[in-house]
Amino acid sequence: MLAAFACDPAQSRGRRYPQAPAPTRTEYQRDRDRIVHCTAFRRLVYKTQVFLNHEGDLFRTRLTHSLEVAQLGRSIARSLGLNEDLVEAIALAHDLGHTPFGHAGQDALNECMSQFGGFEHNLQSLRVVDQLEQRYPQFDGLNLTFETREGILKHCSIAHSQVLDQSEPGGVGRRFLDRTQPSLEAQLCNLADEIAYNAHDIDDGVRSGLITLEHLQEVALFDDFRRQTLTEYPHLHDKAQGRRLLYESIRRMLSAQVYDVIAATRRELEAAMPRSVDEARHAPPLLRFGDAMRNKSQELKVFLLHRLYRHPQVLQTTGQARQVVRDLFDAYLAQPREMADGFLARSGATRGAKDETSTAARVVADYIAGMTDRFAGREHERLTGLKLL
Ligand code: MG
Repeated sequence: MLAAFACDPAQSRGRRYPQAPAPTRTEYQRDRDRIVHCTAFRRLVYKTQVFLNHEGDLFRTRLTHSLEVAQLGRSIARSLGLNEDLVEAIALAHDLGHTPFGHAGQDALNECMSQFGGFEHNLQSLRVVDQLEQRYPQFDGLNLTFETREGILKHCSIAHSQVLDQSEPGGVGRRFLDRTQPSLEAQLCNLADEIAYNAHDIDDGVRSGLITLEHLQEVALFDDFRRQTLTEYPHLHDKAQGRRLLYESIRRMLSAQVYDVIAATRRELEAAMPRSVDEARHAPPLLRFGDAMRNKSQELKVFLLHRLYRHPQVLQTTGQARQVVRDLFDAYLAQPREMADGFLARSGATRGAKDETSTAARVVADYIAGMTDRFAGREHERLTGLKLL
């Protein structure tokens, strides 16, 4: 049961290369299936979310993170009458452009590319599905629908939006210039992303030993549910039951956020009454937390930033990850022959072009961004003789 403001696959703005409809699947189901089968999706299993892939088998990876975003997104979409298949497609693709080694990798690659147009992971996710996947005889990329691509491009700088809008007039770059919103399904994926990582980073942080249940007492959003759980299940005061207490508190926290988003968004929808997807795109952001939950979620983010993402032990490994990315970038730029064949061919094709160096640098960035953590580590060792990670 789709609401009037939901994306309807029958009304899609379509694909860049027109294709006949599939006999049994909607256009968004088809997008989701293309994403699940692509190479970049499989690589997510060996890419860092927060903890480097080799630090432990049970930490989230980009893949399990994306599955959690899809689960939360679908569940909220269903109760708001939004398109679940589109939400799932966007959620599964939203991190395809992430470099190895999480944000450290992305920051390092952005610095390497500062003279050549920079590196943004959202834009890179779009490059993956528009250009870098090579699976079809007739075109590059996965040829996804406008609505899925719109959701994948969560943020985009004005400079990059202008470039995008030149190659695709009125396309996915346009809204950043017009300052309008993406579909509600896309807005939902942004929020589901935030709900997912706030919760799983608590879990992974505690698992790593870098944060404790005692530290978490500073965070109202978590601690209210920890105390509620202990009142209902006093046997969880036993330290040996710490994991059950942690999971039950996180479970309650997740549910509270999901119900809060649903209630707050319903209020916004009732006030704005969008009668179509385009009316929703021209309204202010409608998919949101209530004010109280927004503040609590913000407080949790600040906690995670100070206690986890900037923990000295995390910063030490991310420092090494930056060096790996910088060394790889310099090595491939100097010797394109060290890259895999397809990238070497693209790099060779840039010779004599007007902006030869910057095109060659973009090929190197595409190659590095696509790497898994362990492949990047192995390549670094092969090229420099140093084993950093
Ligand atoms: Mg994400």
